[in-house]
Amino acid sequence: MVFGAGVFDRLRTEVERLGAKRALVLSTPEQTSDAEEASRRLGDMSAGVFSKAVMHVPIETAREARQVAAELQADCCVAVGGGSTIGLGKAIALESALPILAVPTTYAGSEMTPIYGLTEDGIKKTGRDRKVLPKTVLYDPELTLTLPPRIAGPSGMNAIAHCVEGLYALDGNPIIYLLAAEGIRALARSLPRVVEAPGDLDARSDALYGAWLAGTVLGSVSMGIHHKLCHTLGGAFNLPHAEVHTVILPHATAFNSPAAPEPMRVIAECLGCGSAGRGLFDLAVRVGAPVALKDIGMPADGLERAAELATQNPYANPMPVEYAGVLALLQNAYNGIRPM
Ligand code: NAD
Repeated sequence: MVFGAGVFDRLRTEVERLGAKRALVLSTPEQTSDAEEASRRLGDMSAGVFSKAVMHVPIETAREARQVAAELQADCCVAVGGGSTIGLGKAIALESALPILAVPTTYAGSEMTPIYGLTEDGIKKTGRDRKVLPKTVLYDPELTLTLPPRIAGPSGMNAIAHCVEGLYALDGNPIIYLLAAEGIRALARSLPRVVEAPGDLDARSDALYGAWLAGTVLGSVSMGIHHKLCHTLGGAFNLPHAEVHTVILPHATAFNSPAAPEPMRVIAECLGCGSAGRGLFDLAVRVGAPVALKDIGMPADGLERAAELATQNPYANPMPVEYAGVLALLQNAYNGIRPM
């Protein structure tokens, strides 16, 4: 991990330290200029740029990227971007074991996890494999200065969600709880500044620090109902990833409150308020992020199906996950009601 303003300058040195000589640079179409800048910095160590990363890693994109990496004889991937771009690097690494150097530019946290996802025929499957965990991560807050408030707010709430679920993970431990609490504190104090003053480098740095902690938590322990619901809603209804996390988080937290009083006390304290669920809702409003499923493309007649899908297979969670409770949670989230 290399952290700090300007560490992107170390890109070539860090690729050399991986023992690689030909790096394929990955990005989304929107961040092609960032990828080209990375390629320019790599000079003769750049094998080329592949800038077709999209959300949820469609298998067709993964196959094309794997073929390009093989044709260009790349021996490493440099992923410049958010979870979509790093996810594409993971899809390549899963098959080829090429090392990944990640340069995250959002707060999603994928760079710190061995979790990969691939979407085939509209169904997203996830798994864990050490091969896909990036070998090097360059956290440069200067690269996040271009992240617009409408993406930064939800992305930061997505990171907070990893910390919230880490605090009540049944396979958690005291170190993870410390990282999770510190992650919430860092993001809760920095995100309002990031959206109000997008050029504030200290706030950007603080938010990226929180995202690093959040990604570490996500990669270390099991997530509960919140992540399960977001995965279900994102996959079945094609809703935007970070925004779904933002809307669901206050409600999933309130749902788990009766069964996890100590984590809730910690979350509320880190947010500087009296209630974890309401504090998360208010933070989302403050950073201008969406708070209602109906505003991000969820069809009203899909709530029952979503509740069914999310309660089909049992998984660890503080509160028992049953249909009626999950449907009520989803109805509140659909209407954007501030948790009671
Ligand atoms: P994203 O990577 O899709 O990025 C969203 C948009 O923001 C893109 O258009 C991107 O080009 C743009 N963008 C990113 N950084 C920018 C910057 N600094 N300046 C300007 N524009 C910028 O969004 P995301 O929320 O980071 O990632 C979502 C995806 O990541 C989902 O598919 C999700 O499932 C996955 N994910 C995976 C893990 C994991 O551990 N495997 C963790 C979190 C998220």
